[in-house]
Amino acid sequence: MTARSDQFILALDQGTTSARAILFDRAGDIHGVARQEITQHYPQPGWVEHDADEIWQAQLAVAKTVLREHDVTAAQIAAVGITNQRETTVLWDRRSGQPLHRAIVWQDRRTAGICDELTAAGDAELFRQRTGLVLDAYFSGTKLKWLLDHIPGARARAERGELAFGTIDSWLAWKLTGGRAHVTDPSNASRTLLFDIHRRGWDEELLARLDIPAALLPRLVDSSGLIAEIDSAWLGAPIPLAGIAGDQQAATFGQACLEHGMAKNTYGTGCFLLMNTGQQPMASRHQLLTTIGWQRQGRTTYLLEGSVFMGGATVQWLRDGLGLISSAGEVEALAASVPDNGGVYLVPAHTGLGAPYWDPFARGALFGMTRGTTRAHLARAALEAIAFQSAEVLQAMASDAGQPITELRVDGGAAHNDLLMQFQADLLGVPVVRPQVTETTALGAAYLAGLAVGFWQDEAELTTLWRAERRFEPAMADARRSALFADWRRAVERSLHWARP
Ligand code: ADP
Repeated sequence: MTARSDQFILALDQGTTSARAILFDRAGDIHGVARQEITQHYPQPGWVEHDADEIWQAQLAVAKTVLREHDVTAAQIAAVGITNQRETTVLWDRRSGQPLHRAIVWQDRRTAGICDELTAAGDAELFRQRTGLVLDAYFSGTKLKWLLDHIPGARARAERGELAFGTIDSWLAWKLTGGRAHVTDPSNASRTLLFDIHRRGWDEELLARLDIPAALLPRLVDSSGLIAEIDSAWLGAPIPLAGIAGDQQAATFGQACLEHGMAKNTYGTGCFLLMNTGQQPMASRHQLLTTIGWQRQGRTTYLLEGSVFMGGATVQWLRDGLGLISSAGEVEALAASVPDNGGVYLVPAHTGLGAPYWDPFARGALFGMTRGTTRAHLARAALEAIAFQSAEVLQAMASDAGQPITELRVDGGAAHNDLLMQFQADLLGVPVVRPQVTETTALGAAYLAGLAVGFWQDEAELTTLWRAERRFEPAMADARRSALFADWRRAVERSLHWARP
């Protein structure tokens, strides 16, 4: 099939802070964007929830808006791709389509105790071997168990097949198809703690450990392929749903990290560093995750992943928690108004620490303040914290891979911050490269969908579409870098275990 020049791919990008709909043309350039914020609910300290119906309504609204505002009809959409905040857990009634509870968001720590119990029972190694994941509250499995434990009658109803579980991709696919498709792709499934990444199937033994009935689970489909038809009621014509991938895997695909050894970091709410390890899962010696990148034409690509929970969220906290700035974009000028951090280190462990520490009980802390400390130092310490955390993950990854990473491709909201990107290149000692299209998450979903319908021919074509916008070359002396790292590590050490009961 040859794509017509007036055709587009529509990517539905359901992120943690917003729902976006983006139209891409054949050059991989953005033709139009619509965006709507999602309400964050914090019912208790450490808990984070989203309203699944609000997510669906917002996603549908932005899809309609982007078509309307850019005079594009549903007939001009060659395919739709979904990409989503991962691990966020939805449980709904198959008959009514109503969620039984607010969605439990990936950041939510309420199941840290369940993870501790499983670890104490000696199950951590089993989960690690089968799923490539660390037994942590971050992943869907214990969130789903919590829902089944806490909603009266839910487990019995689940056993009778009345309920459906899904990550946000499943929820949106189900809604888009009017309840006809209850599906997920391996990139999302590999984040549930329920999926064997070697056999590439749901795992009975893991389901039993978490007391989760198999009748809840979605059917697995390729990340790129003709998955289902979107109900014409929504956008005015039936459109193939042809791509699904979790946001970080999609961003890796959208950054054209298609060869073994290529790596990217997304600076969104969290930071997510992923490296392509080819067709073989690579086990980490540094508590990194082994995960599925995408499955296409029956071929599975694996990734190594390290995540930082508070990335751009650190800047959000300066804005919303402290009122230090009135918009995220202001942080750069404020931080640039001082020559350095003035000895101030912020450890943004507000929701615990991810790789390479994996401590759900670490908490945020600020060190090194003097009478000379100003809000500008705080802003600077916040940006530097994002870079320190990312650098530690990258170092662990390079060590697992047994080869240094030669460049880092970057994207996400905070990657637009030049001061942060330069500091990142300085800390890593390798170039940081920002592409022209930084909506790589949506682009990856579009690529997966577009490949499935022949809008793009193959991966080689995608590689030629990727273009750099700016390269940040490292410019810091080794001695300075070592001194900064030493102070950062001292600060982290003091933040660990803080909230352990
Ligand atoms: P998500 O997909 O997780 O919703 P985005 O990629 O949209 O995230 O990025 C939003 C995050 O980036 C927010 O946490 C915000 O605080 C941060 N951010 C946005 N602009 C900047 C900036 N100029 N400097 C630093 N952080 C920023």
